[in-house]
Amino acid sequence: MENKNRITSLFKIEFPIIQAGMIWCSGWRLASAVSNAGGLGIIGSGSMYPEVLDEQILKCKAATNKPFGVNLPMLYPDIDKHIETIIKHKVPIVFTSAGNPKTWTTHLKSHGITVVHVVSSLKFALKAQEAGVDAVVAEGFEAGGHNGRDETTTMCLIPLVAAELKIPLIAAGGIGTGRGMLAAMNLGADAVQIGSRFIATPESSAHDNFKQTVIHTPEGGTQLTLKELTPVRLIKNEFYQKVEKAYESGANVEELEQLLGRGRAKKGMFEGDLTEGELEVGQISGIIKEIKPAAEIVAEILNEYRLAIKEQQTEKFSF
Ligand code: NDP
Repeated sequence: MENKNRITSLFKIEFPIIQAGMIWCSGWRLASAVSNAGGLGIIGSGSMYPEVLDEQILKCKAATNKPFGVNLPMLYPDIDKHIETIIKHKVPIVFTSAGNPKTWTTHLKSHGITVVHVVSSLKFALKAQEAGVDAVVAEGFEAGGHNGRDETTTMCLIPLVAAELKIPLIAAGGIGTGRGMLAAMNLGADAVQIGSRFIATPESSAHDNFKQTVIHTPEGGTQLTLKELTPVRLIKNEFYQKVEKAYESGANVEELEQLLGRGRAKKGMFEGDLTEGELEVGQISGIIKEIKPAAEIVAEILNEYRLAIKEQQTEKFSF
């Protein structure tokens, strides 16, 4: 039986489950595993030097015949080289984030690439639509990593965007289960994008120390901070406590920049330095308890989604 909605048709995938592109955590192994499981896997290119992305795309192609994408944070310093690589390898789908969607959308689309832009507000969702993207990811405050300044939660953001956007909508931020997926779809999304849950997989390129920390992070264990630089949600480790102390002592932007320095995300998530590194993960880490293969996660989410739909026929909902 063919199950098609606007997103599964657009990406030519089986299920509307998209794995978020996450720096240092999502290379070819994770992306191909999610695509092979019927979702859409995404290579997070923000942490990859140009030659690394080239190699990762080739490996992903060798590991799956299914569509996959590349996430391109527009703050990336060598973005022109990444774009060339993506076009050279005919990557079918690109998710752009952290920047103006007008800059690259027309160019990418002229090469037959499906373009999706990640936003954190209705205003930017409409701007992305105007720029000609094929779909939008609306990401709420709960999400890990880079985030918006307005702190709009997924619960509020998705219906706001769904009411005005004409093109397909993907919900992100705080989604990691089948019930969460159904909730997001009920709020008006056509698909979900899941990041944190896929860090806790054998296929993720994150350091094992970080994976273990993710599955032991309690509710309230993350915080959105450094809004004066690029807002980021991370685990409240020693580095985070230093940031808090800096705020308490009235640090200015230059002092915060100095404290952050360079390469902290790599240190934490890829090299496993849990003290001094940036550990970027979403609020949903509070319910992630196990490391398991990406395909199992996709299957589990789908089972729970289908069960939750059946439950809607029961008394609890019958009023
Ligand atoms: P920093 O400036 O602190 O460090 C740059 C890091 O990126 C280094 O670890 C470096 O690796 C690596 N890198 C890969 N390619 C290049 C390149 N061409 N030039 C310079 N450095 C490169 O940045 P962050 O680690 O905070 O962020 C890196 C990228 O990831 C940015 O593009 C940013 O926009 C994106 N990002 C996206 C997030 C999201 O949520 N989507 C979250 C956080 C960051 P090495 O140490 O080996 O030199």
